Amino acid sequence: MSKSGAKKIQAIRGMNDLLPSDSPRWQFFEAKVRTLMQRYGFDEIRMPIVEQTALFARSIGEVTDIVEKEMYTFEDRNGDSLTLRPEGTASCLRAAMEHGLLYNQTQRLWYQGPMFRHERPQKGRYRQFHQVGVEAYGFDGPDIDAEVILLSARLWQELGLSEHVTLELNSLGSLEARAAYRETLVAYFNEHRALLDEDSLRRLESNPLRILDSKNPDMAAMLDAAPQLLEHLDDESREHFEALKRMLEAAGVQYVINPRLVRGLDYYSRTVFEWTTTALGSQGTVCAGGRYDGLVEQLGGKPTPAVGFAMGIERLILLLDTLALVPSEALGGSDVYLLALDDSATTEALTLAERLRSELPELALTLHCGGGSFKSRMKKADKSSARIALLLGEDEVASGSVTVKFLRDDREQRQINQRELATILPELLTR
Ligand code: ATP
Ligand code: MG
Repeated sequence: MSKSGAKKIQAIRGMNDLLPSDSPRWQFFEAKVRTLMQRYGFDEIRMPIVEQTALFARSIGEVTDIVEKEMYTFEDRNGDSLTLRPEGTASCLRAAMEHGLLYNQTQRLWYQGPMFRHERPQKGRYRQFHQVGVEAYGFDGPDIDAEVILLSARLWQELGLSEHVTLELNSLGSLEARAAYRETLVAYFNEHRALLDEDSLRRLESNPLRILDSKNPDMAAMLDAAPQLLEHLDDESREHFEALKRMLEAAGVQYVINPRLVRGLDYYSRTVFEWTTTALGSQGTVCAGGRYDGLVEQLGGKPTPAVGFAMGIERLILLLDTLALVPSEALGGSDVYLLALDDSATTEALTLAERLRSELPELALTLHCGGGSFKSRMKKADKSSARIALLLGEDEVASGSVTVKFLRDDREQRQINQRELATILPELLTR
């Protein structure tokens, strides 16, 4: 309690602040993603974070974890039911349909941003978290499935994660094949009814495939022995899946078939995949996606094939941290700390800083602000991340020079003409 008796206001549980010490890692990751998307010909789209509740209920499915218990849904002042987006696929498709992006054309889109789910917060699981998502519309062949998987594989490679993630693949077949399989599966589950937990009994009516997804160890043996969807695929889906596997093999991407991979959302058909890691405990899926050819029609559009994935940025950053894979040059901070030795040179320091920023646009330079004794100024320089301090005192101002002090290396300080700084400074920083 503070003096006034007011309780301190804190962030909402499961919603994280990204502190200055965290953001360089995020920027490093985001920069990699942005370049990669450009290299693969995917265009960025940005959607609002709030949508009509019906969009998610209709697309993700009424009987899914997300819609049943995880959505942040509220009434706005007009009495409309709105929801903070729990994922991006539905919003992206809504935007594409609304703006005619699916009309006689294909699209390769990507987005990034916060998603909201009311889950139990724990390591790698938050209530506001961030995803990078990719969606491709209008392609029905397996080549685009391979292409989005290859894109993700290249990201792992660039981040140094390839050895630490596994691609799990499955096919859910066509909607018809799934419906037939569903009956087989329900019959099997009914035979083993005594082994089903409460959640599964409830899903038996509404969404029996999701039972395969259950992590309940008591059900594991029974689920392993269940009839497999892959054995009930329609011919076209089987061909699609075989072709995808051949393409991945040709491109040198390894995978494992996981016949129990069904994904939590209703809209998938044919290809589904997850990239998983064992380095993060039970929150091991870092990227998940698949094909959802029926969704556009389900949302009132013309049938349009679609495939995509979403990756969880927090989990990927956790993974990079756990494996110490963030390169030190990606940790941010300044290269140079420029300070006046006393207040008499403050203005000169300020104008020199501006000149250097004009001459060296790549340079990260922090100007000392806030005065203080010489000692406290030097302390600030030391505490900064800078490798070099530039000192400006009466003498330096008079002679048009600056004193270069090496903060991290055992090197003699030296005085340089201010006009030569723009050429010498980059050299000093690379050595
Ligand atoms: P999980 O099985 O872990 O709950 P999910 O199937 O609900 O995942 P998707 O909806 O497919 O996840 O989302 C894609 C990715 O987004 C996940 O693989 C994960 O990396 C990330 N993700 C999902 N929910 C969260 C969350 N609450 N906090 C952090 N990251 C999340
Ligand atoms: Mg989930």
